[in-house]
Amino acid sequence: MKTTPFWWEEAEPAHGERQFNTNTCSILIVGAGYSGLSAAITLAEAGVKDVFVIDSQRIGEGASSRNGGQIGNGAKFSLAEATRRFGAKRAAEILEDYDRSMDFMLERASTLKDPFDLNMCGSVAGAHSRKDLEGLVAYRNGLPAEKQKRVEIIPKTDMHRVLKTDIYRGAMVSHHTGSIHPAKYVRALANRARELGVRIFTGYRYQGVSTNAGRYHALVEDVTSRNTITISSDKVLIGANGYVGPEIPWLRKRTIPIQSYMIATEQLPLEQMEELIPGNRVVGDTKHILYYFRRSPDGTRILFGGRAKFRTSTAEESAVGLRDFMLHTFPSLERAKITHSWFGNVCFAYDFCSHVGRMPDGTYYTSCCNGGGISMMTYLGHRSAEMLLGVPGHDRGVVNSHFPRLYFYNGHPWFLPMVGTYYRFLDRVARWRD
Ligand SMILES: Cc1cc2nc3c(=O)[nH]c(=O)nc-3n(C[C@H](O)[C@H](O)[C@H](O)COP(=O)(O)OP(=O)(O)OC[C@H]3O[C@@H](n4cnc5c(N)ncnc54)[C@H](O)[C@@H]3O)c2cc1C
Repeated sequence: MKTTPFWWEEAEPAHGERQFNTNTCSILIVGAGYSGLSAAITLAEAGVKDVFVIDSQRIGEGASSRNGGQIGNGAKFSLAEATRRFGAKRAAEILEDYDRSMDFMLERASTLKDPFDLNMCGSVAGAHSRKDLEGLVAYRNGLPAEKQKRVEIIPKTDMHRVLKTDIYRGAMVSHHTGSIHPAKYVRALANRARELGVRIFTGYRYQGVSTNAGRYHALVEDVTSRNTITISSDKVLIGANGYVGPEIPWLRKRTIPIQSYMIATEQLPLEQMEELIPGNRVVGDTKHILYYFRRSPDGTRILFGGRAKFRTSTAEESAVGLRDFMLHTFPSLERAKITHSWFGNVCFAYDFCSHVGRMPDGTYYTSCCNGGGISMMTYLGHRSAEMLLGVPGHDRGVVNSHFPRLYFYNGHPWFLPMVGTYYRFLDRVARWRD
């Protein structure tokens, strides 16, 4: 079993430039994932010259080349909850941002030259309990009429039409969602950015910033030689998401990095795969500790993800737990070999909302995918670029929304094992009550 992502078989992250021939640029972006690269594309498309992107790893080597490739995730809170937190106007705009993200990502995707296995196959949300199924029905009923057509409720008796498992009480199928090859997608974004003149440097860790005469001077360390250089720019944008380190304490106090784990099976007969997950749809569920799974782009493997443990664990350890979950879902996969097991970091905010804004030191940030950010972080990269450009009307929705901090917290989520136990308890109670 390999402990690198299955996606890297076809699209292993590549290094960018390794030599700076100048230490001056107009905008310095930290993080070569979806958000940083998408911001760079918008800036370059708007005519900004000398945009630099740096990453301490290779291009997309953070979550953007490791994820499940399921697109179309929505907000993790209701309008009523958002209204309580942000007020009615901002709450409506925030949900509009989530709503808009998928269409924006598809627009951006249409400008990319490299293929990334986009498949608008639809998605299944399995209901963990009868109450959850009622929640899905209520969600559908609350949608405007034209959007209701995109969503179908599947009763338990009909489940095998969409998924060959008996663990769910019914499901919701959404038709305006789908899948991508995540590592090919981040590579395509990087190539588009470079085509527009953006320079991407890898193996350089941002260490902080000072200001002088309205310019930002970022301290950047070569992770191989440990030499540091200073890059000066008009503006700095941080797109570090779940990989943010102690060098950015303001963000660390507001964000919770969490590891998410995945496994891939060996290639299996297409007929068996089509029986288990008809139509190649992507799948998630309504549990607090959810499973998410799908077939590989060629349809022959199961890629299964979730939070195997609420403490840091290795790819080998997590593979055992994830395989158990997979067999619980699909007992017929008992003999399927696991070929890959890997993990990556997602980033949660205390309020489960994504945030874009400016820190007290004057640098900007795009942060918190809250578990699902392929479309949202692509969109928020664009929204943060609009903020840097001062586009009229940019101050709405998640841009400049209140970003709560956690007290007695400095970036080490010591409380996660307790949260895990509590969530597991809630998931059990939901089934006992059924
Ligand atoms: C296992 C897994 C499964 C997932 N499944 C899905 C899914 O199916 N659907 C979905 O929508 N989302 C999914 N996600 C989430 C999705 O991958 C992320 O939301 C998305 O990739 C975030 O993009 P980003 O650009 O914000 O961050 P990242 O891609 O994580 O990029 C951040 C980059 O910042 C760099 N960095 C950090 N600090 C510094 C520094 N000081 N100096 C230089 N560089 C720095 C890191 O090296 C990293 O490359 C999943 C994530 C994981 C880990």
